[in-house]
Amino acid sequence: MDTTPGDAPQRAPAVFILDCDNTLLDNDAVKADMDARLHALLGDGLAARFWETYEVVRDKQGVVDLPMTFIAFQPILRDDDLLDRVQAAIMDYPFQTRLFPQSLGAIAHLETMGRAVIVSDGDTVYQPRKIERSGLGAAVHGQWVVYTHKEEHLAEVMAHWPAEFYVMVDDKARILAETKRRLPERFVTVHIMQGHYAGENYTPAPDLTLPSIGDLQSLDLSALRRLLG
Ligand SMILES: [Mg+2]
Repeated sequence: MDTTPGDAPQRAPAVFILDCDNTLLDNDAVKADMDARLHALLGDGLAARFWETYEVVRDKQGVVDLPMTFIAFQPILRDDDLLDRVQAAIMDYPFQTRLFPQSLGAIAHLETMGRAVIVSDGDTVYQPRKIERSGLGAAVHGQWVVYTHKEEHLAEVMAHWPAEFYVMVDDKARILAETKRRLPERFVTVHIMQGHYAGENYTPAPDLTLPSIGDLQSLDLSALRRLLG
């Protein structure tokens, strides 16, 4: 486990495992804003070099890793004051302004049926900062965790948040398919069609496909339980 979640709670009827990026928070917009800030600070050539470095680090680490990207970009930029400003522009971003409009309402609705938790993919510095500063950490009462690849940690998640069954909510069909393939009788999978991964298709198909995170507010527990298996 990369980041330790809060104290273990009691067994819930359902635990809703919510993704962060492009599920609760418009990460495509965060990244577009980040690109604009980099162009303003660095100019086009160095901004392009930053994104090349970002992709090299992502390939090497298997996940977006901004702290590692800053380290790798330092010898390219060779200006520590400017690097500090680049880091500040990215790390001090106002993440709370990029929640999807009904994310907090959806979490509140899910908590009338069970427990809502956030299980996110990412690095151990930037991603926790995003979850906390966006207000999402508080919305789930501190019940969140970050892994490099969440689908490899389902047993840990289930041990930490005991439940009759689980509802995995994600914008990536690949993660949902992998989860359903591993534990079909314990997980209902819900695909949220937001962000640039939304059009991807994987087998098995998600149990439910919704246009936006706000549509979770129309679900009830018995309808979800019928989707198990
Ligand atoms: Mg996502």
